[in-house]
Amino acid sequence: MKIIRIDCHVLLIPNYDARACSSAQDDLVVEVHTDEGLTGIGETDTNPWVARECIRARGTHCMGLGLEEMLIGCDPLDPEAAWQRLYSGSKMTGRRGAVICALGALDMALWDLWGKATGKPIYQLLGASGRPVVPYASLLPAGDTVAEQRASLVEKCQRVQAMGFRAAKLEVCINGPYSHNGLQADDAEGVEMVAACRRAVGDDFTLMVDVAYAWPSAEHALQVLEQLAPYNLFFVETPIDIDDLAGHAYLHEHSPIPIAAGEWQNTHWEFLDLADRGKVDVLQPDVGRVGGFTEARRVCRIAEERNRLVVPHCWKSAIGIAASAHVAASTTVCPYIEFLPAALSESALRRELVEQEFEIVDGVLKLPEAPGLGIELNRKALAGFAADP
Ligand SMILES: [Mg+2]
Repeated sequence: MKIIRIDCHVLLIPNYDARACSSAQDDLVVEVHTDEGLTGIGETDTNPWVARECIRARGTHCMGLGLEEMLIGCDPLDPEAAWQRLYSGSKMTGRRGAVICALGALDMALWDLWGKATGKPIYQLLGASGRPVVPYASLLPAGDTVAEQRASLVEKCQRVQAMGFRAAKLEVCINGPYSHNGLQADDAEGVEMVAACRRAVGDDFTLMVDVAYAWPSAEHALQVLEQLAPYNLFFVETPIDIDDLAGHAYLHEHSPIPIAAGEWQNTHWEFLDLADRGKVDVLQPDVGRVGGFTEARRVCRIAEERNRLVVPHCWKSAIGIAASAHVAASTTVCPYIEFLPAALSESALRRELVEQEFEIVDGVLKLPEAPGLGIELNRKALAGFAADP
């Protein structure tokens, strides 16, 4: 079997809001076609126009080649060999950043193809019997003021608790560079948001908090983490700049709450730094951004060997959720996956891009059992959300 064509779909919801911190408003979806009529699907979470060019752009020498030109003609049934070829042949331009995000979408599609060719779901190809996958509901508040966002988070917590979720994460993005809807509020208001949500769900519900790189230093972060300690949080995500590895290590030593990070990391080498120098407790690879299943699997091994947890990041469509679920089912160290409940998502891409919606029973996600990723694209949505029709 040979790869004969790659289609890159840049997608955008019509009413996107540039002030929002949600990256679910756009998408790059790739379809990798073979000479035997099989097609693999992949997705990545970065600027989709940039990622598309990383795939399409030509090259002129052996370490500066384009991903598409390297992949055409390859055997799709050995994704790890293809990954190595693409990584090596693009090293001068790539190694990290958008090229790895684009490579991740292609790798995802190759694993999907491998599954379709062999009749197996990807978690089986990853060597797993299929462990239970528990999604946590990731909650982005509506509103332009602290009071509106607090009320929205409380309401969404209660809704997902009633829907049977066992855990939820609060996007408390009220200051710093990644703030939601332009808010710049005091840390005390964030602590009050968390307290209100804890009161709303009671003590027997797992809560996490994402502050999206809000705090300027580890010392500053520690002061707020100590104020958050009474609310029994499973982790606090991305408290400080991701490149401050010494700061992460300091927080590992001193924080009363475990620290999670890694959503932006490209390749398992960046996770080695985060785990060994940053001593991060909970590693959060995004399957597309980290470089696909080939790299996500290596991150799971890093966590297994060091007694850390993996809780994959996922803020795109149901394609990425399916990918996270297959990864989670294949390792002993993944207690949760990030999950945007379709009913609560502001993004039509999350709600409509894939034909099937996931079934959640008693808070456990039913693994996709069809070959490959186990999902089908909604062709009408794929055409309807095309950014450059
Ligand atoms: Mg996050």
